[in-house]
Amino acid sequence: MATEIKKIGVLTSGGDAPGMNAAVRAVVRASIYYGIDVFGIYKGYDGLINGNMEQLYVRSVSNILSRGGTFLLSARSKEFRTKEGRAKAYENFKANGLDALVVIGGDGSFTGADIFSQEFDVPVIGIPGTIDNDLSGTDFTIGYDTACNTAREAIDKIRDTASSHERLFFVEVMGRDAGFIALNSAIGGGAVAMIVPEHNWSIDALISRLKKGAANQKASNVVIVAEGCHLGSSYDIAEKVKEHIPHYDIRVSVLGHLQRGGSPTTLDRVLASRMGVAAVEGLREGQSKVMVGVINNKISYTPIGEAIKTIKRLDDDEFRIAKILSI
Ligand code: ATP
Repeated sequence: MATEIKKIGVLTSGGDAPGMNAAVRAVVRASIYYGIDVFGIYKGYDGLINGNMEQLYVRSVSNILSRGGTFLLSARSKEFRTKEGRAKAYENFKANGLDALVVIGGDGSFTGADIFSQEFDVPVIGIPGTIDNDLSGTDFTIGYDTACNTAREAIDKIRDTASSHERLFFVEVMGRDAGFIALNSAIGGGAVAMIVPEHNWSIDALISRLKKGAANQKASNVVIVAEGCHLGSSYDIAEKVKEHIPHYDIRVSVLGHLQRGGSPTTLDRVLASRMGVAAVEGLREGQSKVMVGVINNKISYTPIGEAIKTIKRLDDDEFRIAKILSI
């Protein structure tokens, strides 16, 4: 029989992602539905260390479903990386009578949660909230769909101006170590090519793709670049291409932080709602040190250690599709 959970703390940590509010709302309402008190912890792990938390009620989370960002605020806490910092966090955890912790964030936040749980034998559950979609143990992370839609909308607009002036555009999207946003927006935005950290594409291969497109009377050219790709920044790549094809009129557009903001899509709201409820139900069933995920449209619980250690691969078939459609 699982230990009874009477009071849960919830926090958002690391990079913010649209849909985090929807996840907090779901954790709060599911907790109250099951007769569990819930505390909102502000500014990620810093809030746990400083005791910056308060009880949340059904109406505390009214009107946040549609809002981007996180009303609990997020932070990157240096202190939580130290044993002393985590000990202070545990003191506050106990002083406030908390029995379990729900952490909404990315792999770094889950590493911290895993260590905290092991050191103090505290039940923790992770909810994947990151636009990067780079966590194993779930098909999609909260915020990824919204970020892809934002990027795709921008690419559509850039394409209008690219075709009017017969320009080649390099559009840089977020993704330091993972090319999920790049691949998705390349297919959804009809890009001629994409350059992602996971694939060793060369400038020569890119140039030959561009020349083939020109020979086929391609009307507009948009190349998607993931910010962490091995060929350098989108400006570096644009410069190298210009050296080889000087007559091309080339422009660069870096989408940047606008990809993190905005009202979450329906898909992200539903995903966040499902995961938030599943986190509370998982804790009630005695789950701990796991990350909630959705795999093949079913809720799943993956050990946090596994979720953060296994590298999630881009779908080879989506790569193939992007290539077929880029001619
Ligand atoms: P994103 O994917 O958006 O960057 P993230 O959760 O991976 O989100 P990080 O900055 O890597 O973001 O981690 C968030 C916080 O988690 C850190 O500021 C730190 O407080 C905690 N954390 C990360 N790694 C560790 C660790 N090894 N030990 C303890 N705490 C950690």
